[in-house]
Amino acid sequence: MAPPVTRQRVTIQCVLLLTLALAPVLARAEWVYHRGDMMGTSLRMAVWHEDHDAAQAAIDAVIADMRRINALMSPYVADSELSRLNAHAAREPVAVSAELITLLQQARAVSETTGGAFDITYASVGHLYDYRHGVRPDASAVKQRLPAIDYRHVVIDADAGTVRYSQPGVRIDLGGIAKGYAVERAAGILARHGVSNAQISLGGDTRLLGDHRGRPWIIGIRDPRDAERTAVRVPLADEAISTSGDYERYFEEGGIRYHHIINPDTGASPDSVHSVTIIGPSATRTDAFSTSVFVMGVDRGMAFIEDQPAFEAVIVDSRGRLHYSSGLEPGDDTEGAE
Ligand code: AMP
Ligand code: MG
Repeated sequence: MAPPVTRQRVTIQCVLLLTLALAPVLARAEWVYHRGDMMGTSLRMAVWHEDHDAAQAAIDAVIADMRRINALMSPYVADSELSRLNAHAAREPVAVSAELITLLQQARAVSETTGGAFDITYASVGHLYDYRHGVRPDASAVKQRLPAIDYRHVVIDADAGTVRYSQPGVRIDLGGIAKGYAVERAAGILARHGVSNAQISLGGDTRLLGDHRGRPWIIGIRDPRDAERTAVRVPLADEAISTSGDYERYFEEGGIRYHHIINPDTGASPDSVHSVTIIGPSATRTDAFSTSVFVMGVDRGMAFIEDQPAFEAVIVDSRGRLHYSSGLEPGDDTEGAE
């Protein structure tokens, strides 16, 4: 494919028929592993440490922090700060932690740079979908609630430490940014525990600390229509990589796939791409950007990423075609085979 470019950062290797490349790499005694459920998805960690107990203590600290974030930000936890906002903020300002205020400000900044493609108030309509039970709002319910989707309705008063909603019917959900935030924090926690090589993956959001002991980590991007197949493998160190896909939570009805990413302009799921992967220096932003670019589609989404010098994208469109941002160079298939 394309010859090397001057600002090339990583080489992409297409291995259309290979299974996940990560498994054999992770089978070493020096690495301490964790697998579990967290924030409604799967948590996986690989941590390098000379001292097994110290590695376990670092892993435990990450798990405790993720539980704390979930208790603060989950819409499914009745007394989370986020639930309290959704219950009361349309009537009066609600006092919340400085941490939540900071994340709300970061979400707002992403809304501004993405022209509203990322919008946590998508939940004003989004909460009417129940993907597990195949429930969706009808057109009139969507139309009626659509005006409540607008990130500007969330009024943050950082000095007072409060948040209010300027309209009735507004709801927020941090599902498009909180997992990235959690793995970004995890990298910091592990580093403070003396870890310099680790991988933390929470659902589709991965943060890498250092490399894989002298070689890059190899991160597989799955084929969005076949969980057993890896579409692309990316060698990476010290970066974050997030994938948003239409296969995570969805149901189909009348040939339409209703999935968990919502276009704030329409209240419906975008159908022009199947998955979006973003690579960059912060998992909080790769997470939010992957959701954003999913909403924007190939042309607008790629133009947005080309404007962000530190970030790269791999998009699988609705015909299964791969699109790469200009800082990525696709390699050849044989090189990618291990
Ligand atoms: P991700 O897997 O990171 O793409 O996040 C998907 C999650 O982001 C969904 O489950 C929703 O919680 C949330 N979400 C959906 N649509 C949007 C949107 N347009 N802006 C912000 N968050 C969204
Ligand atoms: Mg995301």
